[in-house]
Amino acid sequence: MATWETVIGLEIHVQLATSSKIFSGASTAFGAQANTQACAVDLGFPGVLPVLNAEAVTMAVKFGVAINAEITRKSVFARKNYFYPDLPKGYQISQFELPIVGRGKLSISPEEGVSKTIGITRAHLEEDAGKSLHEEFPEQTGIDLNRAGTPLLEIVSEPDLRSAREAVTYARKIHSLVRFLDICDGNMQEGSFRCDANVSIRPLGQVELGTRTELKNINSFRFLERAINYEIERQIDLVEDGGQVTLETRLYDADKNETRSMRSKEEANDYRYFPDPDLLPVEITDDDIDRIRRSLPELPEQKHNRYIDRLGLSDNNAALLTSGREIAEYFEQALLPAPELANQLANWIVGGLTGALYQSDLDIQDSPVTPGMLSELLQRIADNTISGKIAKQVFEAMWRGEGSADEIIEARGLKQITDSGAIESLIDEVIAANPDQVEQFRAGKEKVLGFFVGQIMKQSKGKANPGQVNQRLRDKLKGDS
Ligand code: ADP
Ligand code: MG
Repeated sequence: MATWETVIGLEIHVQLATSSKIFSGASTAFGAQANTQACAVDLGFPGVLPVLNAEAVTMAVKFGVAINAEITRKSVFARKNYFYPDLPKGYQISQFELPIVGRGKLSISPEEGVSKTIGITRAHLEEDAGKSLHEEFPEQTGIDLNRAGTPLLEIVSEPDLRSAREAVTYARKIHSLVRFLDICDGNMQEGSFRCDANVSIRPLGQVELGTRTELKNINSFRFLERAINYEIERQIDLVEDGGQVTLETRLYDADKNETRSMRSKEEANDYRYFPDPDLLPVEITDDDIDRIRRSLPELPEQKHNRYIDRLGLSDNNAALLTSGREIAEYFEQALLPAPELANQLANWIVGGLTGALYQSDLDIQDSPVTPGMLSELLQRIADNTISGKIAKQVFEAMWRGEGSADEIIEARGLKQITDSGAIESLIDEVIAANPDQVEQFRAGKEKVLGFFVGQIMKQSKGKANPGQVNQRLRDKLKGDS
């Protein structure tokens, strides 16, 4: 039996975060009452003319520069003609032969230590369509044109991805990049970032591509992975049973975890593109590109390298802390008051904080423990006010809203015992209470040392400085002092 190779190319629609639409002054804010944010241009009234939003162009070029793509000096808007109730003009203004962003590339790391470069074919500007609402009205379809004319950047990848996992890694990386660039709010539930996946299979070793299907309606990374995996299995079963994959658009049903046919590609594909006579070509100069390049913030890859080279973080921590803009911002804010604690902060954010956020289903920007609070906590460990173990208790109390680290340490009397007299008497007490274990230790059973440390820490409610305990305990057990 042949072994199959999967081939995937993604088309990602990124809603650009401009405040007004790409060809009109109407607002792009999400969630307004239906049809209150669609003006005559968005509605396609006769006699009105589109005016290009310069901010949308700048955002597209930012993306292009960030992926080292060719920027088209004279790109052209084209009409993509089709009929649909949520498209009042009867055509969508898009770009076809001359997209604003040409070839570029992005490297991804689908597994630790593995790096792979994915080609980006193009990224073009276009307007979003309105929305058809099928659920609100029984046996009718509602049309909301608020979204009509919202600027989109459609980012098309080469068919370079070889598994659902690679596809998700790539999509996440694009998501992170547009968030760092501040050109998209990244909200997948609201449809600000949408993925279509083109999937095909071919016998391993074959150069020619197999026939693909296009999966639409995917609004989370988890569903993207599931939809692709379902589709790969469906195609393999089909072909191994003697069937053939047909070029078609399939809809992913998250409830049933399956894809089903929506329309065949042949019928849908004759868009009769032609240059839009209402819009001039978009000219971009070297100066424009330089200016935009200089305005770029530090990008995730640069941050990743800086965290390793300058802050001494592990590759893994650096990767996790630069996986999203919000987590990177949290880390950098926490670092401000305690730059020497970079590694400790990184470990706490990647470990305890991320775990707590996950359990409470919270995003890091909504964390009840703010960057400043976490920083203060780690400073109290560093200056020996509390041990790492007590710090976990303090963290939990901060999480529950009991105050800052200092307030909680004070209120609960958690300050570490570092007074050597106090530590000695704790040790003496525990030694006196456990003569059998003392005998065992003196007979050479080193393991009981751990028992004594445990007892002393328990006796002190975790507040004895463990370093000092360890230092004194052995001598005392031997009866040396
Ligand atoms: P269309 O405009 O009809 O969707 P494109 O040629 O622009 O078609 O391709 C869209 C996407 O499909 C691209 O991301 C491309 O990499 C991907 N693609 C093309 N052929 C295949 C294939 N045989 N298998 C998987 N992906 C493919
Ligand atoms: Mg397509």
